[in-house]
Amino acid sequence: MGKVIPEKAIIISVSGAVQGVGFRPFIYKLAQQNQVSGNVKNTNDGVTIFVQGTHDSIQSFLSLLQSEPPPLARIQDVQIQPTTPNGHVGFKIVHSKVSGQKSAIILPDMSTCNDCLNDIANPKNRRYQYPFTNCTNCGPRFSIIQDLPYDRPNTSMGEFTMCRKCQTEYADPENRRFHAQPNACPNCGPQISFIKKDGKLLSEKQDALITVLDQISAGKIIGLKGLGGFQFVCDARNENAVEALRRRKNRPAKPFAIMVKNLEMAKKLCRLSMEEADLITSPEKPIVILKSKNSKTLSSNIAPGNPTLGLMLPYTPLHYLLMDGLGFPIVATSGNLANEPICIDENEALTRLKNIADGFLIHNRPIVRPVDDSVARIMAGKPMIIRRARGFAPLPILHSDCNTSILATGAHLKNTVTITRKHQYFMSQHIGNLETELSALTQNSVSHDFINMYNLDVKSIACDFHPDYQSTTFAKSFDLPINPIQHHVAHIWSVIGEHKLDLPVLGVAWDGTGLGTDNTIWGGEFFRIDHSGWNRIGHWKSFQLPGGDSAVKEPRRSALGLLYSLMGKDAFHLSIIRNAFKNHELNLLKTMFESRTNIHETTSTGRLFDAVSFLSGFNCKTQFEGQAAMDLEFAIDEFESNDAYSIQIRTENKKHVLDWSSMVLSILADIKSEKSRAEISRFFHSALSHVITEVSKLEGLETVCLSGGCFQNKSLLEQSVKELKENNFQPFWNQEIPINDGGISLGQAAVLNQGGQKECV
Ligand code: ZN
Ligand code: ZN
Ligand code: FE
Repeated sequence: MGKVIPEKAIIISVSGAVQGVGFRPFIYKLAQQNQVSGNVKNTNDGVTIFVQGTHDSIQSFLSLLQSEPPPLARIQDVQIQPTTPNGHVGFKIVHSKVSGQKSAIILPDMSTCNDCLNDIANPKNRRYQYPFTNCTNCGPRFSIIQDLPYDRPNTSMGEFTMCRKCQTEYADPENRRFHAQPNACPNCGPQISFIKKDGKLLSEKQDALITVLDQISAGKIIGLKGLGGFQFVCDARNENAVEALRRRKNRPAKPFAIMVKNLEMAKKLCRLSMEEADLITSPEKPIVILKSKNSKTLSSNIAPGNPTLGLMLPYTPLHYLLMDGLGFPIVATSGNLANEPICIDENEALTRLKNIADGFLIHNRPIVRPVDDSVARIMAGKPMIIRRARGFAPLPILHSDCNTSILATGAHLKNTVTITRKHQYFMSQHIGNLETELSALTQNSVSHDFINMYNLDVKSIACDFHPDYQSTTFAKSFDLPINPIQHHVAHIWSVIGEHKLDLPVLGVAWDGTGLGTDNTIWGGEFFRIDHSGWNRIGHWKSFQLPGGDSAVKEPRRSALGLLYSLMGKDAFHLSIIRNAFKNHELNLLKTMFESRTNIHETTSTGRLFDAVSFLSGFNCKTQFEGQAAMDLEFAIDEFESNDAYSIQIRTENKKHVLDWSSMVLSILADIKSEKSRAEISRFFHSALSHVITEVSKLEGLETVCLSGGCFQNKSLLEQSVKELKENNFQPFWNQEIPINDGGISLGQAAVLNQGGQKECV
């Protein structure tokens, strides 16, 4: 039979995260299915495919390539060029030595796929119950990579030599473990062991699994070496265990995340919408904040006073084996002390975590860098990533032109850093609050990690406008000019960047704290942002806050400050204030106000929430950031009403000043007449949503960006979005990027990429 020249041939260039994800074997199979011939190879920017065949077979090949890529692949772009058919038969995977691999993309750690789950559940499979089972479609990536290119010797799996069977799978293009760098089995791969808190080995391999199941069932707290770091786990039903964990971790009230065995168990504890079920079962397997059913199964101390629960499903084979053996929900919280980064090394754990854990389940696969669990929630019908780490980092978060390589060092709390390369913005995993030396060191190592892995030549640095932040100090440590970006401007640019919005926009940045360019504390800001710069066109009427950090931890101080700004000294005679402080505290505060010592002018929405939360009867002190605002939000408890407090908008110096005075007086009157907290909270939330719409009407810009920690409040965000839409505005808010200070670094990079925006007046 003579050679038949096919009717058509094309070259397809695919860019994105398409290497090390089983893309070439996938193309190979697709070619067989569609009876096309040709070849596929890795290139600097992705994968190039040559295919020839009939018109129909090529069309079908192309559409499947784009609609059903391998689970871990992230296709950015597909370019197609016609070419001349050569008539060669068969389809080949071409092994090309790629130069300049540093342009490749590092993939996030991904949860165990169903095929691998079947392997570990099958007693006849050689990976039965093996905790490190993985394949090209799942398993560790970011947490094991030491350097690019992504080959086994450049990972923490390098020290394990594949056995013959594993090697055969690795070399077989038809096998789903073809080129799976962390490929391993019980004969050749990492193993678990259980050690006591004094470091003594108690059991290994299968026995270690039995020990950990016994210990958790017996109410012990275990430090579990997971994927991107240690977690503390314990029986979530056991009051004593949960109480002990709170005491030892010095974490009295902040909610703990729960790991459940499967979706079915999640549904017993929480109400899940379709979107929420999709999110919790997604390959990224984030912790998802859900409406709790108040199940009596769980310890009452998991999330005290909180109608939501953070649930996640198992995401490594080890977690699956654990949950399978236990059959009940467990607490799974970061293995760290407050304000410290998550612990990743067993030797370190034995010193840092020994006063918390009763024992440790460890393994001998080194974790290269800390990657915490991610947290997400469905807000206004769409996923919102609140903490971005495992499953997401370090994928480029944004694709748009960058003129130069920028490092943005982020904010003080919930820190992340962002680094740009040509067309990509890489945002680091969640680093945490930069309150301790350890977290400052982590910020440094994470930044250099990104710079080295991606071989970046950083040319300029963006940081917060606050001169004393640790992140600013870090920015100064580079021998480069620094560009301070106002905190709330960065918040809004994180939305503009994420959604690639055209200017001008109206920005609403509502959060706890950020230094304003007038040296007061901002946090309730409206901006008009266009190509000429940013203009603060509105804000709350400012009020006086007694004390710096102490005011953040004590909502009673925000309340006093608000009332003092409203009625002066008379505020000290109100019973609600008198009852909240001791006499000597009141005397001290009075002197502070009179002499204006340590009194800060603020327009912070976060502090306004704190004040109203306190006035309506919640704690005078809080135990974690955002607690007072959360208490107030939860008080609504599905209370519906069309009424709201009124907020006057005045014009001062060409700015809209939102005057809270009559609202606060109404709240005081409502407290006196014993209105319910639900009602007060509802009226307050509605007033805030209304005022956003009112300012939007006054400015008349169609695009409205919402950002800042206050918009983690589901009631506030959803009602504001709804009202803006009803009034024909187009609201945008952060979804992929944290809406809290975790998104600041990206906003800073986006501003600097515009050449840095100037303040217009
Ligand atoms: Zn797999
Ligand atoms: Zn093996
Ligand atoms: Fe902020």
